[in-house]
Amino acid sequence: MKILITGGAGFVGSHLTDALLQRGHHVTIIDDLSTGRMENFAHVRALPNFHFVIETVMNETVMDRLVSECDMIYHLASAVGVELIVNKPVEVIERCILGSEMVLKIANRYKRKVLITSTSEIYGKSAKVPFSEEDDSVLGATTKSRWSYACSKAIDEFLALAYHKEFDLPAVLVRLFNTVGPRQTGQYGMVVPRFVQQAMRNEPLTVYGDGKQQRCFGYVGDVVGALVALMEQPKAVGQIFNIGNNQEVSIMELAERVIKIIGSKSKIKQIPYEEAYEAGFEDMTRRVPDLTKIKKLIGYKPTVGLDEIIHKIHRYFLTRESNGVVNGDESSMAEAFEAQV
Ligand code: UDP
Repeated sequence: MKILITGGAGFVGSHLTDALLQRGHHVTIIDDLSTGRMENFAHVRALPNFHFVIETVMNETVMDRLVSECDMIYHLASAVGVELIVNKPVEVIERCILGSEMVLKIANRYKRKVLITSTSEIYGKSAKVPFSEEDDSVLGATTKSRWSYACSKAIDEFLALAYHKEFDLPAVLVRLFNTVGPRQTGQYGMVVPRFVQQAMRNEPLTVYGDGKQQRCFGYVGDVVGALVALMEQPKAVGQIFNIGNNQEVSIMELAERVIKIIGSKSKIKQIPYEEAYEAGFEDMTRRVPDLTKIKKLIGYKPTVGLDEIIHKIHRYFLTRESNGVVNGDESSMAEAFEAQV
């Protein structure tokens, strides 16, 4: 099959690229490198069944050609990370809504099967955990920019479902819960790579708020396996699925586990939310996926636990360091990448 991945140079997209190439597919990625990195696909760049296009999905001419030439699309291109959402809300809203609008419009033009990636942010502040797909969204006021991401992704979902309902577009929708693993950068706020890098440098681990907020961290390999299985399952069309892990951990406990596993001398430093993000910032206290639906359809079960994930991320950063990349200094990566190819 010929597969197009938007956002293929991103953290999840690059792992999906690897999985699809391993299955013998032809993979083309389109990425504008806004948050994606050339480094993430350096290892497959020379393969004959891999192609990359550095361009935005908003370029209709390029997207028209790429979609017409492919059999199916995984749409992962998106703005990511709470820090980006708080600091660059216009960019985040436009990137989510306009990007998905373009992908869906052209997918419909050629009637290509498309997977739309959405987010657990959609559930917002809902106290009803675990979150299942038909639950209400409980979002904060529009004056709190954090919720703009959930609303933008909700528009993406509505639009994908509308294309399916009105024009029979084969669309599969997924809501990714906190997904972690090697190649994720802490640059946009993601807590696990950030804690691992802080611990490796023996710097304080920055726990926001009281650290009692809980998350469930899903391993990227498990998540990518689920994406592929859903796209191979005809019954997934027109439906939404949670994907993630349902084992909860508090952010304080996460910090303690990272320090222990890495054997770091770091201490923990609590930082008020208003200092970390902005005044009036609202966090989600619990975010647990109900995995019943995806388990029933494709037998999905997370296989990699948090301690193993921390080990894998630690090993990834150690390897990068030994390749001359200064962890945390994203500017040194371009040079290291050029040196590699
Ligand atoms: N967080 C933290 N320290 C950091 C970065 C994040 O305590 O340096 C917290 C953040 O406030 C949230 C949790 O860790 O409660 C997960 O944050 P992340 O940005 O990884 O994902 P989110 O679940 O917020 O989308």
